[in-house]
Amino acid sequence: MPTQQPRRTPGPLGERFAVLDPATGTAFDEAPDQRPEELDAIVGRAHDAWRGWRADPVARTTALFAAADAVEAAGADLAPLLTREQGKPLAESYAEIARTAARLRYFAELGPVPEPITDGRPVRTELRWRPLGPVAAIVPWNLPLQLASAKFAPALAAGNTMVLKPSPFTPLATRLLGAVLSAALPQDVLTIVTGREPLGARLASHPGIRHVTFTGSIPTGRAVAEGAAASLARVTLELGGNDAAILLEDVAVERIADRLFWAAFRNCGQVCMAVKRVYAPARLYSQVVEALAERAKTVVVGPGLDPGSQLGPVGNAPQLERVERCTAQALADGARAVAGGHRLEGPGYFFAPTILADVPPGSPVVTEEQFGPVLPVLPYGRLDEAVEAANDTGFGLGGSVWGTDLDRAEAVAGRLECGTAWVNHHAELSLAQPFAGIKDSGVGVAGGPWGLYGNLRPFVVHRPEEA
Ligand code: NAD
Repeated sequence: MPTQQPRRTPGPLGERFAVLDPATGTAFDEAPDQRPEELDAIVGRAHDAWRGWRADPVARTTALFAAADAVEAAGADLAPLLTREQGKPLAESYAEIARTAARLRYFAELGPVPEPITDGRPVRTELRWRPLGPVAAIVPWNLPLQLASAKFAPALAAGNTMVLKPSPFTPLATRLLGAVLSAALPQDVLTIVTGREPLGARLASHPGIRHVTFTGSIPTGRAVAEGAAASLARVTLELGGNDAAILLEDVAVERIADRLFWAAFRNCGQVCMAVKRVYAPARLYSQVVEALAERAKTVVVGPGLDPGSQLGPVGNAPQLERVERCTAQALADGARAVAGGHRLEGPGYFFAPTILADVPPGSPVVTEEQFGPVLPVLPYGRLDEAVEAANDTGFGLGGSVWGTDLDRAEAVAGRLECGTAWVNHHAELSLAQPFAGIKDSGVGVAGGPWGLYGNLRPFVVHRPEEA
């Protein structure tokens, strides 16, 4: 699901591109349109900075804690800017900032631990961990700060330096974050670059980069992996999802309806791990559809900067087009919009929160990643059919099972083919847990100690016990 790029506007400060407010659909600022040729010097400086940064773990820990404090202190500047360019309600922008600070602190404390390796022979073998060098991160527009921090916090804690590229739809809060962090980090340890393609492609294939960590769509992920193959850089890919939620016969519909609704609609459904399809037992089907539709009809949709807004606009025009197309196709395929089903009148990229019933299972809104405020609800007869339908996809990010008998729900969750499965929740992630999609949803592991070690390489020292 690669998205198109924003327009370039020539400006007085060199090449720049316009940044639009999705709540109005109009440009409100610009960002530098950096040229791919600039990367040689930027990666060179990241390499030079690596020497000092890798050498002193204690100084790194201190700097990362200071960075976390600086991010928190800048919350009142960062949050409105993030909402302006991305659209989400202000409270969600503050949550991204809090998560960014928490992640910096989590990884600041998580140093790699050398380990002896014993196999009964009279030798002493020690496994140590070394950083990789300058690494690159490329992130999407849906959770700009949170996803950037998921890249830079473990990479910097491991002793790497980083060049990070945000989406051209949301460059501004990340640029400001970079400026905020520069007060706590040595120069060139973290460099934010902004620009339209082919900047990302060039960064992914740059010969000076030792690890490319990418979050975004599956097609772009493939292109990034191809680019990185040229320099044999390590690749971590966190890609798209089409998570299913299976409701069991004993589910208490009214008890879980709010949680299920927000698991699908938070950030306007633009979360890789949002619930993107619901499977409900035929006996409960109407009740589930009605409970979700009631919430979709009453949720307050409006500009993220309005204090009352619970859902903002869709993040950008190409994404809105995608959501409209997917929904129109579902309706043409015979689905019923029990709530929403259309764009909202007026300026901005607002789409009515939509619950679709009677959707044919082959309709793209079920088989693809809609990544918007649209949720198809499908009935099932036998539970095995629901599990099979949930797993019958090339995606494998997350999934959830909802019911009252938790042991039974957990047993069903254990049958889901994905990286993370929840019971009576969805997309709840601890900083300490691994995060890894399977099938087309990803390569490599982020999160927790696994995320740290993904930014390190093993180094083994082997010596005899006696001379
Ligand atoms: P995208 O793939 O269009 O863009 C992602 C990033 O890649 C952007 O910074 C973009 O500018 C850059 N890019 C575009 N073409 C490139 C190229 N040829 N080489 C290198 N970089 C390039 O994705 P998007 O529309 O910004 O984001 C939405 C997608 O991200 C959805 O599929 C969503 O599921 C996924 N996502 C995944 C996770 C996860 O953790 N698995 C988290 C959030 C979002």
